[in-house]
Amino acid sequence: MMDTPMRQSAEQPGPLAPDRGEIALGGAYALWRERRSHLPALREKPGTPPERLLQAVWHHQRIRRDQLRLGDGRPVRVLHPGFRNREAGPDFRRAVVQVEGEPPRIGDVEVDLQSACWRQHGHDRNPAFTKVILHVVWEAAPPAFSPTFELKPHLDAPLSELASWLGTDAAENYPPDLAGRCASGLKRLSQDQLTDLLGQAGLARMRRKASDLEARARQAGAEQALWEGILRALGYKHNVWPMLRLGELLPALRAEPPASRLHWQARLFGVSGLLPGDLVRANPGADGYLRRIWDLWWRERDQMAEFTLPAAAWRLSGLRPANHPLRRLALAAHWLTDGQLPAQIDHWFRAPIDRADLVGSLQRMLETPEDPFWGWHWSLRGRRLPQAQPLTGPARITDLAINVFLPWLRMKATLAGDTRLQQEAEQRYFAWPPAEDNAVLRLARNRLLAGHTRWRPGAAALQQGLLQIVRDFCDHSDSLCSTCSFPGCVAELAPSGSA
Ligand code: SF4
Repeated sequence: MMDTPMRQSAEQPGPLAPDRGEIALGGAYALWRERRSHLPALREKPGTPPERLLQAVWHHQRIRRDQLRLGDGRPVRVLHPGFRNREAGPDFRRAVVQVEGEPPRIGDVEVDLQSACWRQHGHDRNPAFTKVILHVVWEAAPPAFSPTFELKPHLDAPLSELASWLGTDAAENYPPDLAGRCASGLKRLSQDQLTDLLGQAGLARMRRKASDLEARARQAGAEQALWEGILRALGYKHNVWPMLRLGELLPALRAEPPASRLHWQARLFGVSGLLPGDLVRANPGADGYLRRIWDLWWRERDQMAEFTLPAAAWRLSGLRPANHPLRRLALAAHWLTDGQLPAQIDHWFRAPIDRADLVGSLQRMLETPEDPFWGWHWSLRGRRLPQAQPLTGPARITDLAINVFLPWLRMKATLAGDTRLQQEAEQRYFAWPPAEDNAVLRLARNRLLAGHTRWRPGAAALQQGLLQIVRDFCDHSDSLCSTCSFPGCVAELAPSGSA
C-alpha cells in the first residue's frame, strides 16, 4: 500500500497540499505555485510520484548521499549521477557508481517507478540498455535488475517538499555541483578572453572539416566530396551513416541520371530501403504520390538491388516528422535534379555580400520550387498541412553552411592556393549567426560555462568552438573530469589568483 501522501487527490487535500495556515501566510501566489508543482504528480498515476520527479531527484541527488544502500543491502556511493539523456535509451549516461569494496563503475542509469518496469518496458531485451549499471526505482520489491537502488527510503526531504521543489528553477536547471572542473577557470576569463578561446577552437573545427573534405576530394573529386558532405549533414544526427552511404553511391546512381525530380526521389527512396511496400492506408492523400514513385522505382529496382540499403540501417524512432530521412532525401532530389548546387555555392561565395544577410542570401540561392507532395506533408503518413512548408529553412541552411559549404569553400581556396578566398571563407564563418540550440550545446554550456550564466555564444563559430572542446577534451575524460587536461590549459590563460 502506498504512503498517505501519494493517495490524495486534487479534491481531497492531503499532506502534499498546503494547509490553510500556509495559504494565509503565502497568499494566493503560494497556492498557485503549489498547484503548479502538484497537479502533474497527481495526474500521472494515482498513488505514485511522477517519473519526472524521480529523475530530478536522481539528477540533483536529493538523497542522503552518505547513507546509500542498494536493494541487496550493500553500501553504494554515487560519484556522478550521469548526464540526462533526452533521447531513446536509459535516462542517464556515463554515471559513476561505486559499490563498497569494488572499483568505480562507469555506465548508464535507468530511473523507473518500480522494479517490474525493467521487464515491462522491455529494457531487458533492448540493446540500448546493455550499459546500464544501476536501476533506480521508487519501490524495489522484488528487484528485476542487479544492482537496484530504491529512492523511497533515501530521500533528503519529505516527498511533499520535493514535489514542491519540482518545477522551480533549482530543479529545472542543470545541477551546479555537476559543473566541469574547467568551469571555475573559465569563469575567471574575461568575455573577450572567452570569446577568443572559443573562436580559436571553432576555427580549429572548421579547418579540420575542410581538411576532411580535402582528403575525400583527393580521392573522389571536389564535387563528390561536397555531395557526400551534404548528404551526411542531412542525416544529422541519427542517420549520418546511411545518408553518407547514399552520398558515396551518387556516382553509380547518376550513371543513368533520372530526368525528373520525381524520378530522383523514387531512386533515392528506393535505394534507401525506406520506400513502403504497400500504399499508405492511413493517408489516402499519399497513395497517388506513392503510386507514381513505385511506377518509376519498380523498373530499376533489380538493377539497383546491389546498392539498396536495408531499412534496418536507419534509425527512425523518436524523429520529428520534419527530420525524417525521406523528407531530407526529397530535398536532396531537388538539388540533384537541378545539378547546379556546387556552382551556385561558388557563385554565392564570390559575390560581394552584406554580412547581415548571409543566411538569407544563401537561402534564396538554394530555394527549391514548391514540392507538390513534400511541400504539403511532413511525412508519407501525415495529413496534408494547412499551409505549404519549404524543404529548407534558415536552421537547415545554417547547419549546411557551417558544417559543409564554408569548410568546402575554404578547402577549394586552399587547393587553389588562394589566400584571399581562404580568409573570406573564415570571415563568413565567424560572421554567421548562431545555429539553433540543442542538447549537446546546452550540456556543454552547463558543464563548461557554469560561471558565465548569462553568456550565450553570439555566433555559430563560437558554438562550434564549444563543441570542439567537448570533442577534444570531454569525450576523452570521464564524467568526473578526472583525466582532463583542459583545466590546466585554461589556468595558463587566467591563473587562479587573477580576478
Ligand atoms: S572533461 Fe574537461 S573540458 Fe570537459 S567539463 Fe570536464 S574539465 Fe571541462
